[in-house]
Amino acid sequence: MTDDLRARVSELMPRVRGELADLVAIPSVADPRQFPPEECARAAKWVVEAFRELGFDDIGLHETADGSNAVVGSRAATDPDAPTVLLYAHYDVQPPLDDDAWRTPPFELTEVDGRWFGRGAADCKGNILMHLTALRALGDDVPVHLKLVVEGSEEQGTGGLEDFVPRHADLLRADTILVCDTGNAAVGAPAVTVSLRGMVNVVVHVEALPTELHSGMFGGPTPDGLAALVQMLASLRDAGGNTTVTGLDHAQTWEGAPYDPASFRSDALLAEGESLLGSGSVSDMLWARPALTILGIDCPPVVGSTAAIVPRASARLNLRIPPGTGPEEALAALTDHLTTAAPWGVTVTVETEATGSPFRAATDGPAYDAMLGAMRDAYGVGAVLLGQGGSIPLCNVFADTYPGAEIVLMGVEEPLALIHAPNESVDPGEIERLATAEAMFLQRYRRS
Ligand SMILES: [Zn+2]
Repeated sequence: MTDDLRARVSELMPRVRGELADLVAIPSVADPRQFPPEECARAAKWVVEAFRELGFDDIGLHETADGSNAVVGSRAATDPDAPTVLLYAHYDVQPPLDDDAWRTPPFELTEVDGRWFGRGAADCKGNILMHLTALRALGDDVPVHLKLVVEGSEEQGTGGLEDFVPRHADLLRADTILVCDTGNAAVGAPAVTVSLRGMVNVVVHVEALPTELHSGMFGGPTPDGLAALVQMLASLRDAGGNTTVTGLDHAQTWEGAPYDPASFRSDALLAEGESLLGSGSVSDMLWARPALTILGIDCPPVVGSTAAIVPRASARLNLRIPPGTGPEEALAALTDHLTTAAPWGVTVTVETEATGSPFRAATDGPAYDAMLGAMRDAYGVGAVLLGQGGSIPLCNVFADTYPGAEIVLMGVEEPLALIHAPNESVDPGEIERLATAEAMFLQRYRRS
């Protein structure tokens, strides 16, 4: 049976390439300022038709609060008591960004050295093809109820589907949700992502003086807004590069599979001689501990600056927080830290921009068992549990709306895919092996 499935998926790969090329050719960037909305409509229609052909008879478009359309459909199993699996992906893509940085045309699927290049080839159109291929390989032999949601504005961060899910909880309710918008740690090494960091974004403003003062006449005894900000920001890291927000736990360790430091160095494009930061391992620093990044600073630019004490300055900060730390707790800690670290009695205000909760999947249910077994059989090596440094707010919405559901994050977006960057690509072998694993999972999964 396993070998049959593998063979059927393999026979489907030429079709995968053709259809992924069709889908990548549609520039479905969900930002009307950059691409006409008709492109997203074409991509949505493509998805509707592909899944309707597979027996999702009720499939159609559902408008969400941000104006984007989610493709939603379902297909019943013969056994009414069978469990329900919800398949997730998104059909919108990131803009190509710097056209000149692409070595191949961004919206033309092009093979180079065995990888298929194109915007969305991995994120997330490759995952749509993975779902289609798994279902085609299974044919009518799917013993679970299926639901499908393919959203149309994931890359915009406008939260259309996040708003839609709790309002239409019954429509998408499932025992297991396959959130297919992540990837393995490396090609050929299967993994499920079980931990995501949350985040807190703030803008901190410092005001020391009502106006600029000549640095010759006043420099020395006078408080300096920019110097105060620099001192505050410096206090957020220690000499070893650890984030040191007072009150947050900076010593947690990661218990899943480690991120190999050599791979990380190469994935992060570090130069030889550059240090990896922090007192923990790469996985500790990335998945189990808070990490503060200074996103931007408002102060006089070098060109046009004069010999004056800078009265005020601002910085935009992004604090990533691991599971176990709530965003309210992290926001309070960061605000206190900045206020306490401010020198010389300068005035500090902290403006909250956005917060998001971290996520940790429960991995002790029957869906995890079935998926880890299916991945092992499809790849010939055991699957590992990974963290991810970023956030996927939809996972928290799924977890809150369906507290009993198992949530499995997986997909074809391994590090070489360079998602969101120029020269995005997918390894067709990953689509093939993951479609095989998904098909095996759908055959084997039972409620315990
Ligand atoms: Zn994505």
